[in-house]
Amino acid sequence: SQDFSGKVAFVTGGASGIGEAVVKQLAARGAKVVVADLKLDAAQATVDAVKASGGEAAAVAVDVSKIDQVEKAVQFAVDTFGKLDLAVNNAGIGGKAAKAGDYTFEDWHKVIDVNLNSVFYSMKYEIAAMLKNGGGAIVNMASILGTNGFASAPAYVSAKHGVVGLTKAAAIDYAKDGIRVTAVGPGFIETPLLGSATPSETLNGLRALHPVGRLGQSDEVAALTLFLLSDAASFITGSYHLVDGGYAAQ
Ligand code: NAD
Repeated sequence: SQDFSGKVAFVTGGASGIGEAVVKQLAARGAKVVVADLKLDAAQATVDAVKASGGEAAAVAVDVSKIDQVEKAVQFAVDTFGKLDLAVNNAGIGGKAAKAGDYTFEDWHKVIDVNLNSVFYSMKYEIAAMLKNGGGAIVNMASILGTNGFASAPAYVSAKHGVVGLTKAAAIDYAKDGIRVTAVGPGFIETPLLGSATPSETLNGLRALHPVGRLGQSDEVAALTLFLLSDAASFITGSYHLVDGGYAAQ
């Protein structure tokens, strides 16, 4: 049931980290994948790697916090591969580290725009395309911080809680239309997002937060994402699924 032959997938933030792993795993199982990312060069490099392994993919530039760009990117997927079956709304940023009282309005709006409003914009156009196609599956990349709090991350925590809420709301509204909507909650994953912003002593602290004693890998998040996108998950919708090395069990 994890054969995605004939399926068309749209993955935002598909040029790096978790999104890139999702793109590669989907393409390896036969999906035609649109890699939508702010960084077109990096998206094209992901597409080249997919093609070198015999897969099918296409790159499109998008800033997911801009409505008109999101509309065009989803349309690009439909124009390029003829329809839309699967979407992974994964693009995101960490944002500045500061307490709520010190968080600037500018930083707040940036994180909410890129990590939450983007998911609404994307779903609006993805759902329209999927309705024309008789159904589909959407996975929203939330975080362990979609239900847990965390120090000095008020905007990120709020955005990810919002993503979990939007997932539930849309899943109920479109269940009878054959569109399943789920959210994934990764613990801390070894990706460029984490690496670039995080000093090494902090990384050691983050490892220790996971009972398994290590950070997660992008492929481990992609494996859960693919299951949720697959027909094996046909009775799963509106739910939030952790892949967190035991983080939330504590
Ligand atoms: P990453 O930085 O490796 O990749 C994110 C990708 O999104 C990049 O290619 C980047 O160019 C793209 N992007 C950023 N802003 C964009 C925008 N405005 N429009 C389009 N593309 C944009 O990050 P990652 O760690 O793979 O994170 C992917 C998702 O997983 C994010 O939503 C993140 O919040 C979530 N997540 C990550 C972790 C972690 O520890 N790494 C944990 C939980 C959740």
